[in-house]
Amino acid sequence: MRPRLLRLLLVAALGASAAAATSAAQQAPPGSAASPASAKSQKKQSKPKREARVTAPREQPPRESKPKVFKGVCRVQKAKPFLKRESFVVKGQLQALPHQRAVKYRVEHYGRLDGVPFEKLNPKNAYAYAKSVRFLGLPIQVHEKVAPALSCVETRIRKTCNAKGRRYVPKAIGGFRQANTYRGGEVSNHLFGIAIDIDPERNPCCGCVDPWPNHRYCKKDVKKVEEKTELTACWIDAFERYGFYWLGRDTLEDTMHFEFLGDPERIIP
Ligand SMILES: [Zn+2]
Repeated sequence: MRPRLLRLLLVAALGASAAAATSAAQQAPPGSAASPASAKSQKKQSKPKREARVTAPREQPPRESKPKVFKGVCRVQKAKPFLKRESFVVKGQLQALPHQRAVKYRVEHYGRLDGVPFEKLNPKNAYAYAKSVRFLGLPIQVHEKVAPALSCVETRIRKTCNAKGRRYVPKAIGGFRQANTYRGGEVSNHLFGIAIDIDPERNPCCGCVDPWPNHRYCKKDVKKVEEKTELTACWIDAFERYGFYWLGRDTLEDTMHFEFLGDPERIIP
């Protein structure tokens, strides 16, 4: 036999045994011991798969077109600064343009309100999205888009806010409202179904109109607003974790009130 032919035959034989090892590795049941050679070939094969997974999201359709199913998990997110009351009410004065920007965003995302600007931006009334849910056992109506976020807040409270002597048990809550409670053109987030009030008697609004400032907690000589409410820091943290804003932080010191100021399209991951 000529040396070149011998080399060719050897190469062919080696190739066949490598192929046999690969197919054995593919057929081996999970958990079975594999020889170092087959483990190596498995490693080599899994590489392209990982790369394919990395590039896959680019080929998926845009997020909006895919309805999301709520599985009890929410994205952690912050309130958007331009939606906070402090960005459009400065020293008690409503700032027209920043206020319009915030109202426009709400109409676009949550629905129109009769007599409120930007009605044409959304054909559906906000109240048409009202959803009846329970929050810590109490019935409440909220906008269907923010219901998952509220559910995540509840889960967080149940998991983390049970420290001895600091447990807060709500007795009365309110959500969707159809009459505006603000004066001077400001639009309440209760009208969009994205605000929730908890036990007004125990968590007063010290900067609201009379008789609120006369509440016993508002008359307390304290430095921090947190001392004018029975709500615990743990509760406030749980709400703020999922995009709600505590209006106790505002000059209104509305300690009963939380409003969802995150991105409603980003609640469900
Ligand atoms: Zn409120």
